[in-house]
Amino acid sequence: PKEFPMAMSPMDDGWNDLSGIASGPRANATFVTLARNSDIWEIARSIRQVEDRFNRRYNYDWVFLNDKPFDETFKRITTSLVSGKTHYGEIPKEHWSFPPHIDQDKAKKVREDMARRKIIYGDSISYRHMCRFESGFFFRQELMLNYDYYWRVEPSIELFCDVHYDPFRFMKENGKKYSFVLSLYEYHETIPTLWDSVKKFMKNHPEHIAEDNVMGFLSDDNGNTYNKCHFWSNFEVGDLRWLRSKAYTDYFESLDQDGGFFYERWGDAPVHSIAAALMLKKDEIHFFNDIAYYHVPFTHCPTGEKLRTDLRCHCNPKDNFDWKGYSCTSRFFEATGLDKPEGWENQQE
Ligand code: GDP
Ligand code: MN
Repeated sequence: PKEFPMAMSPMDDGWNDLSGIASGPRANATFVTLARNSDIWEIARSIRQVEDRFNRRYNYDWVFLNDKPFDETFKRITTSLVSGKTHYGEIPKEHWSFPPHIDQDKAKKVREDMARRKIIYGDSISYRHMCRFESGFFFRQELMLNYDYYWRVEPSIELFCDVHYDPFRFMKENGKKYSFVLSLYEYHETIPTLWDSVKKFMKNHPEHIAEDNVMGFLSDDNGNTYNKCHFWSNFEVGDLRWLRSKAYTDYFESLDQDGGFFYERWGDAPVHSIAAALMLKKDEIHFFNDIAYYHVPFTHCPTGEKLRTDLRCHCNPKDNFDWKGYSCTSRFFEATGLDKPEGWENQQE
């Protein structure tokens, strides 16, 4: 509890009163953010919203990861905003560098070529390290080993509705291992051979492919070609034990050996999504309709008028991306056989 001189103001003895803490057990879970020191004010905005809409009542921890040491300002501001404990980790070099089997000249030529073709982040080395790290290493950082569930938060996101229950407990109690709020098609230029690598993995490791999977989300021809649908990974609530499992690590190793993180520009979103859709059972993947979310340039604003008022949402339902042409969320519902949320027909344009 902090005390401030209030000489000139009418007193409000309750402003810093932390009552309203949610009752009931907590899951063994944490928020996780990968960020640079320069991201401080954008991540501060994200944290404030996550806290106001959810975590102020739950006080979950928050793990921050960086390829460089966090500075004092970053730590001071984020610790002041997070209601749970904060932890700061520096990523080991091996998790943020070129693996030895990568041909540097080849990788450089790819970056130069992608720069000429104006492919987003095509010329960036750090973005590639970031995507590889999020694909294969964040869940095995020392600080993350203490937890079973994570919720990924990026800088500059928004939450538009109150989160009226604990998504971590929801995952745990319903046996969910991966979740999303937005889905879309990936740029072909960033992943031309990803599906070939995936097919090779499926052939070498049929034991990791789930029988009741959701291949229909990824492919329109029963796995022959990839339709480029993926869950957008800047928001994820997931099970860390799944990512640390033999199935997922075999998958990541296999993809990493093929070199597409550097010879192309594979994103962690298609990498996670393909893993989830092939190696989890349909009903282990969850769509959080009631978590309203924005990451530039897309919005998930829940379908259902009553839901939006009950949860005090402040998003414009017209901005909802879910049922528009470039979203893959309809496909997820069709491939899983779930019913789309009430009111979706009215949000198609
Ligand atoms: P975008 O959403 O794909 O446009 O990519 P972002 O710029 O948002 O990066 C994704 C996440 O990785 C964000 O949480 C960034 O803060 C983080 N990130 C990106 N590049 C770096 C980097 O070089 N170092 C660190 N520590 N974090 C990074
Ligand atoms: Mn981002």
